[in-house]
Amino acid sequence: MSTTAPATGPAPTPAGPVVLPGTPVVPGVVLGPVVRPSGTVVLPADEGATVPEDGRGAEKERFSAAASAVADRLSERAAGATGVSAEVLAATAGLARDRGLLSAVEQRIDAGAPAAVATVGAAQQFVDLFTSLGGVMAERVTDVRDVRDRIVAQLTGQGEPGVPRPQTPSVLLADDLAPADTAGLDPERVVGLATRLGGTTSHTAIIARQLGLPCVVAVGGLDDVPEGATVLLDGERGTVTVDPEPGEAQARVEAARAAAAALASYRGPGRTGDGLEVKVLANVQDGAGARAAAAKHAEGVGLLRTELAFLSRAEEPTVEEQAAGYAEVFEAFPGQRVVVRTLDAGSDKPLAFATMPDEENPALGVRGLRVARRDPGLLERQLDAIAEGARRAGAQPWVMAPMVATVAEARDFADRVRDRGMVPGVMVEVPSAALQAERLLRHVDFLSIGTNDLSQYTLAADRLSADLADLTDPWQPALLALVQVTAEAGRGAGKSVGVCGEAAADPLLACVLVGLGVTSLSCAASSVAGVGARLATVTSDDCRRAADAALAADDPAGARAAVRRSLAID
Ligand code: PEP
Ligand code: MG
Repeated sequence: MSTTAPATGPAPTPAGPVVLPGTPVVPGVVLGPVVRPSGTVVLPADEGATVPEDGRGAEKERFSAAASAVADRLSERAAGATGVSAEVLAATAGLARDRGLLSAVEQRIDAGAPAAVATVGAAQQFVDLFTSLGGVMAERVTDVRDVRDRIVAQLTGQGEPGVPRPQTPSVLLADDLAPADTAGLDPERVVGLATRLGGTTSHTAIIARQLGLPCVVAVGGLDDVPEGATVLLDGERGTVTVDPEPGEAQARVEAARAAAAALASYRGPGRTGDGLEVKVLANVQDGAGARAAAAKHAEGVGLLRTELAFLSRAEEPTVEEQAAGYAEVFEAFPGQRVVVRTLDAGSDKPLAFATMPDEENPALGVRGLRVARRDPGLLERQLDAIAEGARRAGAQPWVMAPMVATVAEARDFADRVRDRGMVPGVMVEVPSAALQAERLLRHVDFLSIGTNDLSQYTLAADRLSADLADLTDPWQPALLALVQVTAEAGRGAGKSVGVCGEAAADPLLACVLVGLGVTSLSCAASSVAGVGARLATVTSDDCRRAADAALAADDPAGARAAVRRSLAID
């Protein structure tokens, strides 16, 4: 017996353990004691100038030494990590070395502030700046505060903040985690993760997925769960049960282990139990990621996020450099499908050499394919590089553009791609593209639905906002209705319509997407087996019924429950 708590907090009752509902991110059921991020760093108060003039040089050196120590530790961890984790750790290390931060700190030390006080003041200056720039910089604010705390801890001899390394396998509960903390988690010791904030597309979620760490976000009432309490975290149902009944908890962990064993034997190809073929592909960012995905039995790449390899670059990479990188990805999947997305610069993925600075509203601004309006050469050179990489690897790539909103954009892009002998497609990330899918397919050979952005633009909710995570939930029936319209257009034209947003990583939702008519799914490599194994347990009729059940629901929770009932999942 258990009691589901309202989203606002736990409601202990004599009836049994309290179940805290949240948003499921990574499936898996784990049981363990609660650990929390280690103590908050005590920040010094500003008591006016206290460092005499002749001591200020030494104080600057103390700051530089502390910032370097923090940056070196993060870089070291980055070197031992891969993929998104490595990117995130390296980016945070870069912030600790940031010249803007250094000069803001030095100005304050010149005015007499001790190094720790100067660090707090300078960091606040950047927090205020990023906050005033709007939602897109939200994750930068978390990074700045994280770097501030690490440097102050180093300067004042406090323990480095962050995630503990518990002796027994434990479940980490936190308000939110700095990206560097999530990236540094040791999955042997932290076996599950739940946060009060965060959405399914936050960095925490993306990295938890990469680590294959059972994860639930946006869990109400987490603050009241004491450290050391036993919790059962269910990453498929999206719940955290406090003090569960031991026998029942153990049974659920065992059942999840058995399901995980079934996943371990997944070898592809993706198909439903009655033989409907559904390619299960991987989202990758470079050759290393593609090779890792091939090892996880992905049938190809459904989304190569080309911009992610160039996030820290000031200058546009040369055609030769790009071609070499793309060839590596093609070589990981000889003779198989590889879908390359042209640069999706702007908004949550700014590129110094492509993004328009100081836009009022970058998510609605010059991002994705729209960059080519100002700089068509950038797109032309990238298409040349993709064609050259494909020539070297003997590949026949599919190439798609992000953020397409009109038929004219799709037609123009398709011409440029076909001129180079490649297969053109576009992403469906904007509601107008879904509504015009039939017409887009007159010009392109395939569509790929980016549910992360499609939900943000359909529900008018920033995908990075933790406060609005319920709106950008990929189970929103309005989003699913747009997937249905798009998939039906594909069926009518006899062309492929895939999903490459995070929705495709959810095994249950994958059944719904197939029922809506989607022909391929592309997700993080760590999710490929989960999605493929689940599809093998259902028939295409089951999927259609599940899709009808989801579409008929009024909200994501109702849709999940209806689909579980429809598929007879406990
Ligand atoms: C999407 O928007 O769903 C998508 C796959 O693209 P990205 O997450 O890179 O914006
Ligand atoms: Mg997108």
